[in-house]
Parts: sequence; structure tokens; C-alpha cells
Amino acid sequence: MKKHNFYAGPSILPQFTLDETTKAIANFAGTGLSLMEISHRSKEFVAVMDETVALFKELLNIPEGYSVIFLGGGASLQFAMVPFNLFRTKAAYLNTGEWASKALKEAKFFGEVVEVASSKDKMFNYIPKGWTVPEDADYFHITTNNTIYGTEIRQDFDCKVPLVADMSSDIFSRPIDVSKYALIYGGAQKNLAPAGVTFVIVRNDVLGKVERPIPTMLKYQTHIDKESMFNTPPCVPVFAALQTLKWLKSMGGVAEMEKINIKKAALLYDEIDRNPMFKGTVVKEDRSLMNICFVMDEKYIQFEKEFLDLAATRGLVGLKGHRSVGGFRASTYNALPIESVQALVDAMKEFEKMKA
Ligand SMILES: *Cc1c(COP(=O)(O)O)cnc(C)c1O
Repeated sequence: MKKHNFYAGPSILPQFTLDETTKAIANFAGTGLSLMEISHRSKEFVAVMDETVALFKELLNIPEGYSVIFLGGGASLQFAMVPFNLFRTKAAYLNTGEWASKALKEAKFFGEVVEVASSKDKMFNYIPKGWTVPEDADYFHITTNNTIYGTEIRQDFDCKVPLVADMSSDIFSRPIDVSKYALIYGGAQKNLAPAGVTFVIVRNDVLGKVERPIPTMLKYQTHIDKESMFNTPPCVPVFAALQTLKWLKSMGGVAEMEKINIKKAALLYDEIDRNPMFKGTVVKEDRSLMNICFVMDEKYIQFEKEFLDLAATRGLVGLKGHRSVGGFRASTYNALPIESVQALVDAMKEFEKMKA
């Protein structure tokens, strides 16, 4: 039975991505070699890299003056690479969860960090509002989707200082106005590819302004100049990312994807709000479309494990909440079909009939 995969990351990928990558691992581009055993400098792989960058730019409508690069090290390395390349005297951070806190912690190695606002007081169950960013900050860092707590910033906004966003778990889930950002980064393993590749979209004019020496591998300019081939790129994840982008394009791009994501999320949130056994954990206006967090109502708290067991018998996997939150988390990334969300909703209804 095909599973309904709600894992938060690594997570579900389009069947197209799995099939095409499997074929290329057997025989890449008619070379008679596996994608895993061919030079990254072969013309066949260089073509993959070029097309991946081109489709990234096309699907996100990235304006002139930006570079797209693919790196190793995960989003977590970006927590340090961003300040290495952009931090002069002061940076501002919005603290909306565990990943945002980790990013902020790394920036502190470089100097003064202003925590503009935090939602830690309420277990990060909302996005703080009404904050102001110091105008002398070198950049302002946000995490658009808080994968662990299930909150999301879904509007692009104007910012007087360069805006940096960790979009690991909501990239390609909606159209974004890239021109409002100086830098966008993310690990690919949530909505794009298997683990191992990290994307960075950077406006070229924000680079080259710090005085500190930057180790070669940690310098964005190195990878821009060498078109992500300064060292060996993660070839298989990059190839898989390209397949996901092709799939996305065939689905109508990010605008169509957003419509489907809104529908999928509404289906599940409506059931969470209706079903007396469950309740949401996040302030309604800040609910994520990608990671839907909920718990059992106090009255039924003893049934948590039993519900997960029932879900498992229906092929619903990956629903356990993050260890720091508990309860349930359904990740509804682009590749998750609405039928999987419906199967979860059906299981919730059935559980209500059994227990409530
Ligand atoms: C998963 C995740 C990370 C960490 O990504 P790694 O690639 O494991 O370093 C960072 N930020 C967000 C928002 C995430 O969802």
C-alpha cells in the first residue's frame, strides 16, 4: 500500500521525482553510467545544473541581479554563512521558533544581535506583530515557515534593511516577491529534493561589504563565480530538485500550487476545529499551510497513541508532533496529494465515532 506521507523532513516528493531519479541512477542521460558515478563536470551534469538554476529563476520569477547557488551543509550552515557574508556591526532577528533561535545564536558570534520580537512566551504559537527593525542593522532575518510549531509568514513585506529569509519549509509553496528579499535560503529536503542540497538566492549587491576574511568555502561569491561547481556539488539531490521543478511547472507553477495548498490546509484545519477530540495549537491567523500542528483535547489526551496507531493502519505515517511540542503534526508539502489529507480527516472522524 502506498503510504500517506506526512513527515516534516525529509518528506514526500512527487512520484515523478522519484521515478526520474531512479532512472538516472540506473542510466543517466543515455550515458550508460549512473548519475552517481559520472563527473559533475560532464556536459550532461553541467546541463542539469544550468537547467535547475534556470527553472528556479523562472518559477520564482527571480529578477535580474540575483544569483541562485546550490551548496552543502544544510540550512543550518546558512545560519553561520549569512552573518559571515553580511554582518558588519549589527543584525536583527525575528524569533519565531527553534530554527529562528538557532539562526540567531550563530549570528551572536559576529557581534550585536537585536531580537526584534519573540513568540517564545507562548511556545511560538503565533507570529509577533508590530515590531520595528533598527535602521542601522546590516540585515533582518526571518523564518517564513516555522516547521516545528506550525506558524507561517505568508506575506512578503517591505523592509528598510536587507531582508534575509529562511524558507526551508515553504519555498515553492506560494508565489513570492523575491525583489523584497536580499537573500533567501533553505535546505531542500522539505519541499524540493532529498537531503544534501541547500539553495541560496542572493541579490549580488549585498555581497562584498564586510571586511573580515571569509574562508573560501563559506563565501557566497566563490560559489557564484564557479556556478555552484567550486567543489563537487551534491549531484543526486540537485538532479532530483530539477525533477521536482519540472513537475511543479507541469502543475501550473507556484500560483496553482498555492491554490491547492490552501485547499488542503483548509480541509484539515476545518476538521481540527470541528472535531471535539482535537484542537489546533496555533493562533488561527498565523497557521501554516505546510505544517499543521494539533493536539488531542485534554479530555481525550490518553488516546493520543491510539490515534497514531489507527492512523498507521490506514497507511498514514509521520504524524507524530516534533519532540519539543508533542501531539500531532501533519506536513502538507506540495507533493502531498489532497487524497492523503482526506484520508487523515476520515481517520479523525472515525476516531471520534469510536471514542467521543
Ligand atoms: C529543517 C529546517 C532547518 C534545518 O535544515 P538542515 O538542512 O537540517 O540544516 C532550518 N530551518 C527550517 C525552517 C527548517 O524547516
